[in-house]
Amino acid sequence: MEAQAQPAMPTAMYEPEIECMPRSAIADLQLERLRGVLQRAYDKVPHYRKTFDAAGIKPNDLKDPSDIAKFPFTLKADLRDNYPFGMFTVPRQQLRRLHASSGTTGKPTVVGYTQHDLDTWSNLMARCLACGGAKPGDLVHNAYGYGLFTGGLGFHDGAERLGCPVVPISGGMTERQVALIEDFKPDILCATPSYALNIAEVAEKMGVDLSRSSLRLGFFGAEPWSDALRRELEARLGIRAVDIYGLSEIIGPGVACECSAQSGLHGWEDHFLFEVIDPETLAPLPPGEAGELVITTLTKEALPMIRYRTRDITRLSTEPCACGRTHVRIMRVTGRSDDMLIIRGVNVYPSQIEAVLVGFPGLAPHYQLALMREGALDAVTLEVELAADFCGDPTHKAGEVAHHIKSMVGVTCDVAVKRPGEVPRSQGKAVRVKDLRPK
Ligand SMILES: [Zn+2]
Repeated sequence: MEAQAQPAMPTAMYEPEIECMPRSAIADLQLERLRGVLQRAYDKVPHYRKTFDAAGIKPNDLKDPSDIAKFPFTLKADLRDNYPFGMFTVPRQQLRRLHASSGTTGKPTVVGYTQHDLDTWSNLMARCLACGGAKPGDLVHNAYGYGLFTGGLGFHDGAERLGCPVVPISGGMTERQVALIEDFKPDILCATPSYALNIAEVAEKMGVDLSRSSLRLGFFGAEPWSDALRRELEARLGIRAVDIYGLSEIIGPGVACECSAQSGLHGWEDHFLFEVIDPETLAPLPPGEAGELVITTLTKEALPMIRYRTRDITRLSTEPCACGRTHVRIMRVTGRSDDMLIIRGVNVYPSQIEAVLVGFPGLAPHYQLALMREGALDAVTLEVELAADFCGDPTHKAGEVAHHIKSMVGVTCDVAVKRPGEVPRSQGKAVRVKDLRPK
């Protein structure tokens, strides 16, 4: 019954001369651009001048890209402390757009773009889409949210730049999304992975088999997701599911994308310098070791970011890739240090739980972790949902899930089994953890 995922066919590169640059040429370009961005940040942003001075470092102390490790980190809190425009290098007349990420606590994080920044962004998104298998002329159904969130407009501009017509449907009104996929016959779906799953589910309820639709490719990002969910999306939508990475503080989507080899995401080193650090000691880690991803923008005008701590946990590979691109590969992000839960002393990311649950017999691929307080300790309940056709004993199923989580992830979890439809569905970014602890 499962539809086969589309085979990975390499497509034409958007900028082959850049994407296949020798690594020595990438290093030279990075050094030159890094000097420029450090000087710009120091000259134009009081925050950087203050933190560089406090660290006793000047932009021209950088002699080699690895000297970046001597410069201070930038945190999300720095953007909030300088809210709304204090980190910008240009007056507002030179800005062309603002975006902001939703602030779950306090003020949102505001980012700004000059015309040059918007051009860079569109170009990088076109490069990513082509890298993942999109071709000029493909019809793109863009279900990322349009608005302050960078997802919608980021994909929109990149698809247009590549020469793809776009259906700017945004998120929500899922029945209409399914109807338009049937009517317009798009080649490509762009959405968060959790919302793509919602679309697949709604289609099934409507009696529409999207595994037989015109869709060929899906670009999924903006939240960490597991390979189990990738296989589920590929089967239910009849597509090849491509992982794409970015964050608004750096530019939005378009920082890195999978190629036909699907062995990590190429991070575009002509525009970004990638490091991995130990999140405890903050020391740089050698290639191949897992830690927190830190990014410096090399060409951003309005909002240069120096050593921005992403909180995303990954590792880097500079080994040659089968596709021929030379840019570093960022291995699939397994979680964010912000999302990490400590369940009875064991560090756990929601995506590890997801890897066990998606495809589990008798369960729908929807879950949520509820965080509660029991006395002085935090307790976690894993809420799972029965498949619509489940006809066994729910209590037995809960025990089975708890046993598998214990053996695969190593934690003992309380499991609450919900009826079909009871776990909330994503309309954009999924809420995997609900915090019910008293404030
Ligand atoms: Zn590749």
